[in-house]
Amino acid sequence: MLSTFTIEPPDVNWRQVQKRSCHLNIVTPVRTWRVPIWICCDRPNDPFLLLIGGQHGDEYQGCGILLEFLQTQWGRLHGNVIVIPEVNPPALEAGTRTSPLDGGNLNRAFPGRTGGTITEAIAHFISTEILPLVDFVVDIHSGGGALEVPPSVMTHYLPIAETFRETLSAMRATELPVSIVVDEGHKDGMLDTLVESQGKPFLCVEMGGGHLQARDIRLGLRMVENLIARRNPEMVAQHVADRPSVAPLLLEVPGPGHYVRASAGGLFFPAVAAGDTIRRGQTIGRLYPRDPTPGDSAVSITAPLDGVVYVVRVSVRVEPGDDLIIVAAPAHAALAGMWGT
Ligand SMILES: [Zn+2]
Repeated sequence: MLSTFTIEPPDVNWRQVQKRSCHLNIVTPVRTWRVPIWICCDRPNDPFLLLIGGQHGDEYQGCGILLEFLQTQWGRLHGNVIVIPEVNPPALEAGTRTSPLDGGNLNRAFPGRTGGTITEAIAHFISTEILPLVDFVVDIHSGGGALEVPPSVMTHYLPIAETFRETLSAMRATELPVSIVVDEGHKDGMLDTLVESQGKPFLCVEMGGGHLQARDIRLGLRMVENLIARRNPEMVAQHVADRPSVAPLLLEVPGPGHYVRASAGGLFFPAVAAGDTIRRGQTIGRLYPRDPTPGDSAVSITAPLDGVVYVVRVSVRVEPGDDLIIVAAPAHAALAGMWGT
């Protein structure tokens, strides 16, 4: 574990007309970790849209989408946008959800602190240097090695009606196949929680499962362009020929009854896939006990309610309490109205 490091923030005046990249440097006795930051500023007095990827090192979809966007669209980009495609280099280099340097989960480390770990220092930089500049955050994740999720954009039930309405409207504008509103049980330390507490819209994008698919990049590029064009009409979205062929869905996970968790450790073999429609009582997988002895039998896991499989665990080995399946329901009418149907 590294105990000494220094943080070198980028030498940049954020609020001036510019288009450039810079780095947050994390300097250790062994090496320097560089977090690339791209900034496009047309209007110094206006807030920025923040696009962020790679919080979890086994979720490369956000990095892929944002790097491809920067590669292909940087020259024609307008507006006030900050892009951080690889925010957690130590975890991304290791390909692990948490940092190999300190075991920290970046998306449980917000708002971070000085004098702590490198993971906490990255969170602190984002919280204190970047968030004051922005009024809208898009954070791209995926299921990583453990979970399969349909390409989707997620938010929580927000207490401020105006922010909630703006968030839902932006979700619709992404044109991702699924928009979903979730009541999440574990929110401490998440970037979502911090941004939402500031009354700002926050989109958590879950772009599929552990393996990067060409589909994820295509959908992600269209999403990014749509969100920027929505704020900057001069940045007309190019992917207009690539419109979705099926109508997007609005789903919700309104409470703990929608989560199916492992009652014991063992091996879980799912019988359904992300996006499947399921019925209450249907077998959705089997849980085999660890170290079975003669007479032990696998437990059939059944769906607690009718709905759509939003998340399914595909990493097989499970610990007690792990989410096996999250079942989403079609959104209720008032929510659908705010979303745009
Ligand atoms: Zn993640």
